[in-house]
Amino acid sequence: MTVSSRNLHLLRLSLRVRPIGTRGFASHSSESISFSVPPEFKTRTPPYAALLTRLDKVREILNRPLTLAEKILYSHVVDPEEAFAGKNGQIRGETYLKLNPDRVAMQDASAQMALLQFMTCGMDSTAVPASIHCDHLIVGHDGAEKDLKASIEVNSEVFDFLRSCGRKYGIQFWGPGSGIIHQIVLENFSVPGLMMLGTDSHTPNAGGLGAIAIGVGGADAVDALTGTPWELKAPRILGVKLTGQLNGWSAPKDVITHLAGVLTVRGGTGYIIEYFGEGVQTLSCTGMATICNMGAEVGATTSTFPYTDSMKRYLMATRREPIANAASAVNNLHGYLRADAGAEYDQVIEINLSSLEPHINGPFTPDLSTPLSQFGEAVQKNSWPSKLSAGLIGSCTNSSYQDMSRVASIVRQAKERGVKPKVPFFITPGSEQIRATIENDGFTDVFLGAGAKVLANACGPCIGQWARDDTTKGEVNAILTSFNRNFRARNDGNPATMNFLTSPEIVTAMIYSGDMAFNPLKDKLIDANGNEFMLEPPQGDELPPSGFQQGDLEYLPPIDPKPIQSAEVVVSSTSDRLALLEPFEPFEGRELKMNVLLKVKGKCTTDHISAAGAWLKYKGHLENISNNTLIGAVNEETGEVNKAYDFDGAGYGIPELMIKWKSEGRPWAVLAEHNYGEGSAREHAALSPRFLGGRMILCKSFARIHETNLKKQGVLPLTFVDEADYDLVNGCANIETLDLLQMLNNSVSGVITLKVTNQDGSEHIIKTKHTMSKDQVEFFKAGSAINYIGSLRRHQHAQEQQI
Ligand code: SF4
Repeated sequence: MTVSSRNLHLLRLSLRVRPIGTRGFASHSSESISFSVPPEFKTRTPPYAALLTRLDKVREILNRPLTLAEKILYSHVVDPEEAFAGKNGQIRGETYLKLNPDRVAMQDASAQMALLQFMTCGMDSTAVPASIHCDHLIVGHDGAEKDLKASIEVNSEVFDFLRSCGRKYGIQFWGPGSGIIHQIVLENFSVPGLMMLGTDSHTPNAGGLGAIAIGVGGADAVDALTGTPWELKAPRILGVKLTGQLNGWSAPKDVITHLAGVLTVRGGTGYIIEYFGEGVQTLSCTGMATICNMGAEVGATTSTFPYTDSMKRYLMATRREPIANAASAVNNLHGYLRADAGAEYDQVIEINLSSLEPHINGPFTPDLSTPLSQFGEAVQKNSWPSKLSAGLIGSCTNSSYQDMSRVASIVRQAKERGVKPKVPFFITPGSEQIRATIENDGFTDVFLGAGAKVLANACGPCIGQWARDDTTKGEVNAILTSFNRNFRARNDGNPATMNFLTSPEIVTAMIYSGDMAFNPLKDKLIDANGNEFMLEPPQGDELPPSGFQQGDLEYLPPIDPKPIQSAEVVVSSTSDRLALLEPFEPFEGRELKMNVLLKVKGKCTTDHISAAGAWLKYKGHLENISNNTLIGAVNEETGEVNKAYDFDGAGYGIPELMIKWKSEGRPWAVLAEHNYGEGSAREHAALSPRFLGGRMILCKSFARIHETNLKKQGVLPLTFVDEADYDLVNGCANIETLDLLQMLNNSVSGVITLKVTNQDGSEHIIKTKHTMSKDQVEFFKAGSAINYIGSLRRHQHAQEQQI
């Protein structure tokens, strides 16, 4: 695509992209005075002075006390004047914010498409610091060493590709075995006041260190990687007031498992959860991370905590003392890392930590929350299995030093009484640092002595990478885990396995009983001599008394890697898992003509549009994964799933017909009903239809994130002005836009007119609506957001070369 320089100038003004030369955090003249850090900490410290300056502008406009989340988020808004002025203070839940995140983290499965898209922009390096983490593709089976070796063999082409992208673009590469994305981010990158995006739903884990960290899809990550403002509707703020102090068997996990029961899986949607109250100061930093991590389970945009002494201690323990000092200064001098007095929340929930009892959540949904004292009864009442089949602790949710030391205290007690676990016990350390530290401090020997299996520092059983051989598929059984998700088949691929989520302490106590109704607060175990005894409540250290061990230093990437322009990105031309992306064709500059490939009936989520499961292995290969496009959709005209019909009446699988029409040069549209594209923000659900020749999705309503994703990939998303018009259009109908050009060239008024000609000759003029912003119109013209951003970047680069 060619775009004139004048247009580029205007477009740049409209998007306000970050200049290429400012890789790393923006600085401010007073930064060096107030919040200076040594050079090696620079790219890991938020630009506090610049953020405070911007926050002052926000305050001038809004003129009201702000919550902590508002302070962090709004100080990352590109232009406060444009975002907030003239809105009469109607911001939360209404205003779209253009944000400049400070950092990006990507896990191996989702990083593939994010980086493939980033590559098409033609940039030499990322605009902000970024990291890649190899964690999701590692299987848990025989223990760390063997599993890691086997998984590296199977996934080497993916790891090689990611490593080579890291070298070329200056992105930190954390290889297989280094740890789980969120644990590594907490140990290295999360900082109070930071705003980051991560291509994983549990990115909010970083809120335990006072960051605003949001899980996104790859195309959103590319916005940040290219310095393009990332758009988010200002979330509402849900305040959770914590009073009292945890004691006995209760743990930070119980705060969130309890809250999930109150809010349900949708209760946090559109909200940031912000914790406050005197109870906050009693929590460890890693405990707060656990709480923020599972905020994803109630649908929250993210969760965060105000600055605490425990955050400072954690920053110091993880070798970031200068950052701790800068954070303390910005908080003490400016109150940046806490809510303003009098700040108002949209909702407030209060939790008294002193009386909070342990909770167990599940099966099959994380919001089915049962207090431990009622769990035995619930097991009976619901006919859940009475025997436990396995206990698993660790994952990104619960593998802190504190978790492991408290668990070790329980295992030691059992050992002293000569008691062994009754069921298999698995431990996944969250990082090499945790693995090495618990080994150094003797916990690993304690666990191995109890017959536990220590798995690789990776996701393993938490993401279905559990090669389990003690049950058969379909066998009903119960497991207890300290993980965060428990949808059917998530852990071992067996839809009959019931995963109950709880704290690592409760998992560990229960494995010594094997009885699902066991309550360590009141029930006794039998020791080796046949005597009854009760486990004492767990004890442990917040941080390792003799410091964190770094373990195998080979895992540590350079702190601030420089891009190597001459480095090759490694993608085999014969790979069926990875393929370089070809940019989508730009808009041809004339009204669209297309045919209706399918009318979808009823619910159509991103799972229907781009199925997961076995297809996940093709995430880096657009052509291969596109063979799953809309295979879960129901054809409105026949009621069949994954069936579409050609002009001659011949039936095809839906992606098959898409491929056929693409090869015939026939653009197509899909019609659908309400909330099209709800569910996970899966970018392949927009990429694949576009790749296979889809030009327009016309429906009764969209799920917002999917609508945005379609716009980013150059697909025209329209909704009916009159929903009844859905019934006027038949399969294979010809559709022409009548005033698309006018909309694109002159204005962005919200209506587009379509002429529909059905196969039987009937004709209809249909009014539809679009919600494209000026920027999104440019995405459409360029063929995709990535094409547009790439053009801007190349032009900017050329200009910089001339200066
Ligand atoms: Fe996701 Fe589980 Fe891995 Fe955490 S450990 S990143 S929840 S798969």
